[in-house]
Amino acid sequence: MLQLFIPLNALGIIYRQIKYTLADMDLVFKLLKQKPEIQDVENATDINVSKGEVKFEDVSFAYDKKREILHGVNFTIPAGKTVAVVGFSGGGKSTLVRLLFRFYDVSQGRILIDGQDIKECTQDSLRETIGIVPQDTVLFNESIFYNIQYGNLDASREEVENAAKMAHIYDFIEGLPDGWDSVVGERGLKLSGGEKQRVAIARTILKKPPILIFDEATSSLDSATEQAIQKTLGKISSKTSTLIIAHRLSTIVDADMILVMEAGKIIERGSHLVLLEQQGRYSEMWNLQRDTQGEDSDNNG
Ligand code: ADP
Ligand code: MG
Repeated sequence: MLQLFIPLNALGIIYRQIKYTLADMDLVFKLLKQKPEIQDVENATDINVSKGEVKFEDVSFAYDKKREILHGVNFTIPAGKTVAVVGFSGGGKSTLVRLLFRFYDVSQGRILIDGQDIKECTQDSLRETIGIVPQDTVLFNESIFYNIQYGNLDASREEVENAAKMAHIYDFIEGLPDGWDSVVGERGLKLSGGEKQRVAIARTILKKPPILIFDEATSSLDSATEQAIQKTLGKISSKTSTLIIAHRLSTIVDADMILVMEAGKIIERGSHLVLLEQQGRYSEMWNLQRDTQGEDSDNNG
């Protein structure tokens, strides 16, 4: 099924992931490419998620010891709330995501989920808990049906189709010559960035994790599709703790808390309105995007 070259010593991890957390295989491959040495601690326990509170406690991190990327980052996603992170590219936003998913361990500080340090938990259980729609999605050389069902292999055909509808990819699939059996990926049908993002969104809708992460998950969609999907995401994330990395600020105005990241630090935080009033970096970015994208302002923001 999987035809990738991977080091032999990685097969154990892969196999476990195939068994337990199929939904995140794409991430596992990236993990293996990037840093296969992240291991469960000896007496690691499965994470126990009841509320889904996420806490970054004084987190610093360096990919390379000579250059620290995150400097003492503190924030909490209260259970069921949505926190958005914005800022220019290179500021460290995706690094937050990688640390929460434990691609890497923090250099300093702690990341807690419902009070449990994620370093002490099994990676399998952590990854079952979190659904990610990443910046770029990896598809398998399998049918498009499988690529979506992979979010939850127990899902019925109807559930898969519903998820595809919610992610606005259903009509596209129905219109393919081979329909749901169309093979996608490197050696099959090539999907556009936006189509891949919608497949990833459908997967995550099926997975229904207690913690959701969207890393510029709708950045390749046209604005109309983005807005439609945003509504869906708003619905599925309404009772789920959610971290959204946003490119277009118009998509996160309703977030419970917005963090502005620059050079690995949170330089502003607050709701959309509070940040606008502050007339700092956020309001600067807001005005810039409104001018360059010609967004219609609806007078209440
Ligand atoms: P953002 O998502 O805000 O654009 P990232 O978190 O991707 O920013 O990157 C933050 C910084 O970390 C950048 O300077 C980037 O070059 C660096 N970086 C990202 N990934 C790696 C990596 N795997 N190894 C070394 N440096 C990295
Ligand atoms: Mg990024």
